[in-house]
Amino acid sequence: MILYTKDISDNIRNSIKDEIIQYTKNFRAPHLVVVLVGTDSASIKYVNAKKRACEEIGIVSSVIELESDISEKHLLAEIEKLNCDEGVDAILVQLPLPKHINTNTVIMAINQKKDVDGFHPHNVGHSLLGLDCITPCTPKGIMRLFDAVGYDLEGKNVVIVGRSNIVSKPLIGLFLEKNATVTITHSKTRDLKQHTKKADVLVVAVGKAKLITSEMVKEGAFVVDVGINVMENGKLCGDVDFDNVYEKCAFITPVPKGVGVMTITMLLYNTMLLYKNNLENFNRNKI
Ligand code: NAD
Repeated sequence: MILYTKDISDNIRNSIKDEIIQYTKNFRAPHLVVVLVGTDSASIKYVNAKKRACEEIGIVSSVIELESDISEKHLLAEIEKLNCDEGVDAILVQLPLPKHINTNTVIMAINQKKDVDGFHPHNVGHSLLGLDCITPCTPKGIMRLFDAVGYDLEGKNVVIVGRSNIVSKPLIGLFLEKNATVTITHSKTRDLKQHTKKADVLVVAVGKAKLITSEMVKEGAFVVDVGINVMENGKLCGDVDFDNVYEKCAFITPVPKGVGVMTITMLLYNTMLLYKNNLENFNRNKI
């Protein structure tokens, strides 16, 4: 079955929208600020998609556009301003950043209570320990898919291809919490097929079109294709050779209309969580 995620996503977005309608009877709307450094066309596209999604459900979103040659010091000062601004609930620094800026330093500068991407070490650590935190959007969106279709992960062999901090590593903790057996593979893994062939659940987050071919996939697998690749004709495709793989899968997420939609939905969800947390603190301070 091809798992188009629009309906799952719409359900979540509609319930966030309803919550916002209730909250804004008494309070200001949630506010997400996206910091965009430079003019990378893919980044601009992603930022615009996030902005549109916010507007549709009543989240206020602002974009701070900074020159690509901005110094790290100046960028950190911009983030500190947002950290101190009580009218800002959520901060997202669009990645990748220009090479002269240390991404980790920037991520760590974001107040963990406004870290909507969940990339701050505080949130990463809490997530791994199963404690309350903001979980990164793509992994969180992927886990929602299993819930939505009622797929039980207990005892399943999960193989993740890729070892990124933003997708693959957070997934390890989330799958373990569901009692799955998790294997991580990456660019130095020998004989990738030997691992992927055993996967009941195969998550691919690499960025190489058609890396996963039909003979690498087990019959009846649940395949989650995270990759986004732009083809020569300008169309998007994932990391899985979709046309030759989908028939043997119990479920497979397409690209586009799959994981990417869930990522944006979870950004809205995380913004709402931070907003509610911010309001609670505000009310506590008033008392
Ligand atoms: P990344 O780009 O940081 O790293 C790629 C990973 O792939 C590395 O860990 C590397 O070890 C592994 N790799 C490279 N070649 C390999 C090979 N031949 N075999 C096995 N592993 C190999 O990872 P990322 O940031 O998770 O991004 C991966 C892809 O997912 C990209 O296409 C990105 O655009 C996409 N992505 C999509 C979403 C979404 O919402 N759909 C979100 C994040 C990332």
